[in-house]
Amino acid sequence: MNPLLSPFDTAPFSQIKNEHFKPAFLQAMEEARAEIDRITENKEAPSFANTIEALEFSGQQLDRISSIFFNLNSAETNEEIQKIAQEISPLLSEFSNDITLNEALFERIKTVYGQRDSLDLTVEQQTLLDKKYKSFSRNGANLSDDKKKRLREIDAELSQLKLKFGENVLAETNTYEMHLTDENDLDGLPEGEKEAAAQLAQSKGKEGWLVTLDYPSYIPFMKYAKNRELRKTLALAFGSKAFHGDEHDNQENVLKIAQLRYERANLLGYKTHAHFVLEERMAETPEKVHEFLNELLVKAKPAAEKEFTELETFAKELDAIDRLEKWDGSYYSEKLKQKRFNLDDEKLKPYFKLENVIDGVFKVAEKLFDLKFQEVSDIEKYHDEVKTYKVYDTSGNFISIFYADFHPRKGKRGGAWMTSYKPQYRLNGENVRPHISNVCNFTRSTPSKPSLLTFNEVTTLFHEFGHGLHGMLADTTYPSLSGTSVFWDFVELPSQVMENWCYEKEALELFAKHYDTGEVIPMELVQKIKESATFQEGMQTLRQLSFGLLDMSWHGVDPSGITDVKQHESEAFKDTNLYPDTPETCMSTAFSHIFQGGYSSGYYSYKWAEVLDADAFALFKEKGIFNKEIATKFKDNVLSKGGTESPMVLYKRFRGAEPKVEALLERAGLLE
Ligand SMILES: [Zn+2]
Repeated sequence: MNPLLSPFDTAPFSQIKNEHFKPAFLQAMEEARAEIDRITENKEAPSFANTIEALEFSGQQLDRISSIFFNLNSAETNEEIQKIAQEISPLLSEFSNDITLNEALFERIKTVYGQRDSLDLTVEQQTLLDKKYKSFSRNGANLSDDKKKRLREIDAELSQLKLKFGENVLAETNTYEMHLTDENDLDGLPEGEKEAAAQLAQSKGKEGWLVTLDYPSYIPFMKYAKNRELRKTLALAFGSKAFHGDEHDNQENVLKIAQLRYERANLLGYKTHAHFVLEERMAETPEKVHEFLNELLVKAKPAAEKEFTELETFAKELDAIDRLEKWDGSYYSEKLKQKRFNLDDEKLKPYFKLENVIDGVFKVAEKLFDLKFQEVSDIEKYHDEVKTYKVYDTSGNFISIFYADFHPRKGKRGGAWMTSYKPQYRLNGENVRPHISNVCNFTRSTPSKPSLLTFNEVTTLFHEFGHGLHGMLADTTYPSLSGTSVFWDFVELPSQVMENWCYEKEALELFAKHYDTGEVIPMELVQKIKESATFQEGMQTLRQLSFGLLDMSWHGVDPSGITDVKQHESEAFKDTNLYPDTPETCMSTAFSHIFQGGYSSGYYSYKWAEVLDADAFALFKEKGIFNKEIATKFKDNVLSKGGTESPMVLYKRFRGAEPKVEALLERAGLLE
């Protein structure tokens, strides 16, 4: 008996063995295909129920098996699971391709879509119909055969080019090393960083120390190394990845990717690639993104210039540096920050015992959203360390299952994330409640010391818990519109907004107590945390904006006029540069986020999400951070609504207006 193919509510971890996955996947896929066939072979005329809803609720078992499997592959993997993932992933993409290329299915969806105005659908149903239709049309379902053929060629070429782009960046990162044999060259680096550099050298059979372009090696060197010439050498190597005119050069690839994306968008009837991407984003259009980036630029630039002058003056006083270069920024910023705040993690950690912080985030959720978390032992877990909770509202209604997995282990990938084992939805009159999980990598306790979190870990816990609330409080009909299934530039609102409570006295008093003495964290320490969190925020903002503008400069235009990558880039950066330009470097040739990963026309969303969370939290600040009325508005219009409506509509219903950049500027201390 395969436990994955028998009915279950919470995932039956104790019974699942690795050999169960593949047969379960294969059978569930076969069943899902049969469900699709039943839709296309239906003799009745296509209707919302027999086509759109039937498609929405098809493949549910496959989805549950997939979430168990891929959640395990992230949180508790081993070689066997990884091998199964490699076998299963192509089958799953083939399965979803077969659906989006299913012409009979699309014909039925198109018929329903054509009748949409006369079907008397709810807003959620309209959203679902629109989403299903677009998942086909945006893949070329409406195109003539020769155009479809061209689209497939472009897609194939693009995936090759993206792969090549990534391989080049990786090769350039991996081949470079700075070999140091004089210990004086490492002056300024903390002991731990020196040791790491020595170990790296040793592992490659070399004397002395090695510094590479990998972040864990590169970042500390730029931050701490006294030797300016060496910082320059390393910075130029880092900044010129895949820009050396050799076999790993990405300039041609960048031009080709931009051109093919543009052609693809045109084929599908969109003006540019950015128009295509942003159709499914809260920002909606490239014009809106440009307006947003430029508004922030105008408002943040004076502060950035002031900070830059400050930094330059500081560097001059300290080391008689007369012109601050790119390779000086990180070094002098760190020095200035130390001088100004003298704040280190060790001072803060005793106030953030893990158990207290968990308790704190639950208390905040109770005060805001009437939730009660009850730890239980009758839910199966995939590892002993996982904590399981049943979540109720204060009237005793069951809301969700919550899994929390806090510590690093072999077999868990790095970072922190929220995921789900079961989405929320309504079917046959029943409101099926979700199973949500948070996975993190926090320092574990030792026999003599409890697990004490850095402040960064505290905000991470609140952040992932915010995503968790988005999942737990979901209250929609359709699973694909539920919880965090929202547009990309909206998904970080519930998570980032939660981080704000970590800086508030009223919230910290609930949980930030010294693990030994029970003393509440002193407010002057909190004030310092706040101030240091926005240190050089103007410069940081300008940097983020420059990446967003560069992204849009490649994807929001017809790129056929662009022939010189570096020249194009310099043009895009002209309003955001603080440091002198260096002709040897090029950002685009190693900008993997937008040329290899999924961030094309999406880099702006980092700042967009910050504006949203600052603007949302400003309302709490105004009315009280535990104001029930505001919290309820947030729950009813944002947290429970998933992607059932346009995010701007949802947001305005909560806030009464569109988000404005002012709250972010104020929080960041950029409004003078
Ligand atoms: Zn997040």
